[in-house]
Formats: sequence, structure tokens, C-alpha cells
Amino acid sequence: TVPVITVDGPGGSGKGTLCQLLASELGFHLLDSGALYRISALAAVRAGLDKSQPEQLAAMAAKLEIAFLPGEVGEPTRVLMNGDDVTAEIRTEKTGEMASKIAALPQLRDALFQKQRDFQITPGLIADGRDMGTVVFPEAPLKIFLTASSEERAKRRYNQLKAKGLDVNLSALQRDIAERDLRDSQRATAPLKPAVDAVMLDSSTLSIEQVLEKALQLAKQ
Ligand code: C5P
Repeated sequence: TVPVITVDGPGGSGKGTLCQLLASELGFHLLDSGALYRISALAAVRAGLDKSQPEQLAAMAAKLEIAFLPGEVGEPTRVLMNGDDVTAEIRTEKTGEMASKIAALPQLRDALFQKQRDFQITPGLIADGRDMGTVVFPEAPLKIFLTASSEERAKRRYNQLKAKGLDVNLSALQRDIAERDLRDSQRATAPLKPAVDAVMLDSSTLSIEQVLEKALQLAKQ
């Protein structure tokens, strides 16, 4: 079987960066499952659908043609939706917000389940998300649950957006993150929680190099 390492945790915990580095170090494929929810959200907006239409949303998502074109570490992976480059558009707060709302729909989660399983290709996969260890790849031998304090996560998101030249407000970001955390952890379908056999890693006071080193140690065990 193809080895899978799952990395779950809240937004801003450093999952994205850690997963990119792990994939590059180990030569594994990378699944950014959040991007699938974000693409679905964008496609929903374009099709005029919202969370009150779960069946239509799921049918639409199942038909989406999604491609990830990996770049260098540190460079964003280009994301194509039906051939259209949506890399920048799926990263906006508005799309993230919509993604978090429709992600509560079991019909949509079911529609994306097999698309996610299909990423399990040799020599291995790093699966980044919220329910990689609990739902999508429960058989994965290594499951990491990455956390960081909400203050630290808000600060990181703030610096990311600032670096892109965007005008952002730290307290508004903190509020958004708290709201999203609550929605992601309290929803009935696949709530954000560590798998019973997950290894907990708190990145609040660690550098990205230190987090990577710990994860690589775990991968070698
Ligand atoms: O990680 P990212 O911020 O890109 O995810 C966007 C949203 O998609 C999250 O807020 C979450 O609600 C949802 N999501 C999910 N399950 C995943 C990945 C993301 O529900 N495996």
C-alpha cells in the first residue's frame, strides 16, 4: 500500500507550509484538501448555488476537473478548475468563509471523498486538511494534528496578507478565525478533531524548521 501521512489542524497552524516541506523532503505527492473545498465554494458562487442546495452543490463538485501544478517550495501550487487558473481567487477570505459554510454539508463531503482518495499514488502522499486522519485516510500509519494558539494563527495570517500588500485588520482577522474554528469544530459532519491515534504538535513557539524536524522524526519511526 502507498504510505500516507495525514496533517490535520485549524487554519493558520502552519499545516500548509509543513505539508509542502514534507512532500518535498520525502518526494511524496501533496493533497491540499482545503483547496478542494475552496474550489467547490468558488464554483458554487459562479453557478449561483449556496448551502441551501446541497444536492446540486454535490453534483457540481463531483463533475469539477481539478488539477494541482506544484511549484517550488515557498511558491504557491497553481490550482486549475476546469482548466481555469483560480490560484489567487480561492485564497481570499471570502472564498474561505464560503468553503467553511458548504463544508458542513455531508453531500458535498461525500462527493469530494473519492476525489481525495484518488491522490493516494506511489511513492506516497501528504494529506493536508481537517478530517484526513479521522475520515479520509483513517488507515494512515502517521497522523499529525498541528495546532497553534489563536493569537499566533491570527498573527501569521495577518503577516501573510500584509506581505501580499493587502490591507488587513488584526482584530477582525482574530474574530474571523475564532468564528471559523467554532464552525469547523462544532459541525455535525466531520468536525475538526484529532484522530484517536494522532500525534499532537503545537507550533505556537516553534519555527517552521523545528516543526519539520519533529515531523520527519515521526515519519522515520
Ligand atoms: O484549510 P483551508 O483554510 O484551505 O480550508 C478551507 C475550509 O474548508 C475550512 O475552513 C474547512 O471548513 C473546510 N475544510 C474541511 N475539510 C478539509 C479541509 C478543509 O472541511 N479536509
